[in-house]
Amino acid sequence: MRVIETVSEMHAARVNMAGPVAVVPTLGGLHAGHEALMHAARARAGSVIATLFLNPTQFGQNEDLAEYPADRERDLEVMRNAGVDIVFAPPVDEMYPEGDTFVVEPGPIGAVLEGEDRPGHMRAVATVVAKLFNATRPDLAYFGEKDAQQLEVVRRMSRDLRFGIEVVPVPTVRDERNLALSSRHSYLTEPERSAAEVVYASLCAARDLWDGGQRSAPELESAIRDVIASERLATLCYAVVVDPETFEPHKEPGAVSHALALIAVTIGSTRLIDNLRLG
Ligand code: AMP
Repeated sequence: MRVIETVSEMHAARVNMAGPVAVVPTLGGLHAGHEALMHAARARAGSVIATLFLNPTQFGQNEDLAEYPADRERDLEVMRNAGVDIVFAPPVDEMYPEGDTFVVEPGPIGAVLEGEDRPGHMRAVATVVAKLFNATRPDLAYFGEKDAQQLEVVRRMSRDLRFGIEVVPVPTVRDERNLALSSRHSYLTEPERSAAEVVYASLCAARDLWDGGQRSAPELESAIRDVIASERLATLCYAVVVDPETFEPHKEPGAVSHALALIAVTIGSTRLIDNLRLG
């Protein structure tokens, strides 16, 4: 496994890579969810590039950039064991050189939910992913369904900006308590970790109602809110049931065959997101 830190070296290495070439972008702080992405890429691609870049622009002023639990040596070991060929791990000024001004604006899908709670976040994600795509020039790009809105933003960017990259979704990896794995779990105390079980439980409450025929978004959302309200350590940021393609509220109870329930919750000071497909 080779570690590359500059775009020019990455471009030079890319010329000789066996195709199709897959990329797996990560912030570091790797866990079994990231490993699932790398394994899926390894199973299909001729070459696998993983990126290790703690992108500062996608963190808000009061967010956890400074304490983000990334450990470079450990992360490189995880990537090596997952069969990654090249790690692209640029320093910040390689991705944001002085005078850099261009951004990628996702439009309406980037303005709701995560985009509303974390202003500028989805624009920053789209912009850095575009840069990583241009640095690595992949045929395939692997993203987790855990970050469902991010996945849709990247899918649309690839389509709308004609990147010609196939964005491949990978199902959410959960722990034995059904908590969707996240680098941020290392912040949770044991009582908070137990409290975090309400996140998935609340989504399951909506799914149970859906399976029983309930199609009203307000009813489904209120079921999610009730479960979260039962846990004193949990504070709800949002709970919504949306159209999985547009992320707009799902409106026509009679017509839809599927929807997506999404939730963001803070447990103590840790913000967690999760989602579950309905139907
Ligand atoms: P991050 O390092 O948090 O930006 O995540 C890098 C990639 O891993 C993103 O595509 C995430 O959606 C994906 N990912 C993170 N957690 C999980 C998980 N529990 N299951 C599957 N994919 C995940």
